[in-house]
Amino acid sequence: MDEELQLQDQEQYDVKYISELREYWNAYMFALINEIYTGVAINLGLSPSQAYSLANSNPSDLKKAEFFKGLFERFKRIFDYRIPKFRYKQKLYGTGKPMSPRQWQKFEDYLDKYWRKYTDPVAEEITVKAHILGKQTTDFRRRKKPYKNKSLLQVATDQYRGRMPKRLLDAYKKYDFTNAEKNALNKQYSSVAMYVTNSGKEIQSAIRNQVQTGIDNNRSPVEVASDLYWNIEKNEKLTNKYSAESLRRNWSRVAATEMASSYEAGILAPYEADAMESLKDPERARYFVRTGGQCKWCQAARGTIARLVPASIVSDQQEESLSSMGIKDLHGVKYAVWIGKSNIGLKQEQWMKAVCPGHPNNVATMQPINLEEEFYNPKTDDVEHAQKKKKFIPQQIDYSEQSKEEKESKKPVYIGNDLVQFNGNIYQAVDPAEYNFKLEQWRKDSSGPIPVNRRNSQDMKIFEEAERNK
Ligand SMILES: [Zn+2]
Repeated sequence: MDEELQLQDQEQYDVKYISELREYWNAYMFALINEIYTGVAINLGLSPSQAYSLANSNPSDLKKAEFFKGLFERFKRIFDYRIPKFRYKQKLYGTGKPMSPRQWQKFEDYLDKYWRKYTDPVAEEITVKAHILGKQTTDFRRRKKPYKNKSLLQVATDQYRGRMPKRLLDAYKKYDFTNAEKNALNKQYSSVAMYVTNSGKEIQSAIRNQVQTGIDNNRSPVEVASDLYWNIEKNEKLTNKYSAESLRRNWSRVAATEMASSYEAGILAPYEADAMESLKDPERARYFVRTGGQCKWCQAARGTIARLVPASIVSDQQEESLSSMGIKDLHGVKYAVWIGKSNIGLKQEQWMKAVCPGHPNNVATMQPINLEEEFYNPKTDDVEHAQKKKKFIPQQIDYSEQSKEEKESKKPVYIGNDLVQFNGNIYQAVDPAEYNFKLEQWRKDSSGPIPVNRRNSQDMKIFEEAERNK
């Protein structure tokens, strides 16, 4: 694996509750795959203790069973899934003779049934929770609440009284989901379900392939069982693709990416209606900034600002410039982001920037940013409130050479209390405390006087000049 991919593999969320959700799902699925392989090893003739110790004997991963136990204990107040034993009664390798296609079919049906039963409900719960947590993160940020160190249990207890939804219908009944949110969540669940099914198929063909190859090569059942688990070191042909370890690794990458997509959709979806409105009324536009992600690619993409556009107007899923959609942004923002945007299927050099997750295992997220009041701080990789020192000069004052008459006609003159007319504009001196509010009003309706902050000595020169011209 090259260095860049390794970096991408190791990205960690800086938000605890979503990081824990990922940790649980990974552990659960690892334990489930372990159980299937252990069951197959027993079927091949190993005693249960031999089979389980085989699962534990990867030198890089000692005490796997203990690890699972501790982890499930930690999450037991949120998840109560159990993993029952996987025991197929017919011998896969009784006499050393290959099984018939019909016998394999029966085994695969058995495995398929087990897989669906113990992966589907968990996948649904994780997808729903990831989406709700995304929505929750948006809410924490909007209310300026600290959230990064909250555990999953804390969020479930404090925000959902311990009854965080597990099922899609559950979530729709209890919470006010907009249609955009429902669409996003339904789509995401289809995608997750597809990957779960696919992983099950991979396990079926992995076992079939390994057992058949073992019989063909006259390997003993114990050797076959061992290959099933740890054949990863041997980089021969396809064999490494079929070990329990590589299946778990593949699964983990896909799951992390899918879960991140669900979380991200939960962050963006509450703003979908604004995005739609903003096509007519640019003031409603919603902006996001890309934060987080630790690999080099993410570091370069940090701080990328994007405007949310309704997913329904995106005709080319691989084109992210606002101008290509015919949108000219008031703030000069170049990129568009939409719910479900993804780099899946693109080569790294084609990856779009303003998208989370941007690559497999990615943990970067889009944060809402109000471009008038907030800014992105590259040092903290976070959105911060702009300091008042940021000054706004309504119109450049022209100090170039003028004739005496011109000067006379353009002289600033008082036309009322705190009101000065100058160069075709009317200015109003306002106290620092009300300056931002007045400025906001003036932006909405620019027919009134332009506010000038009394504390801004540069801008107040107009008033000094008008004082002299009295
Ligand atoms: Zn990254």
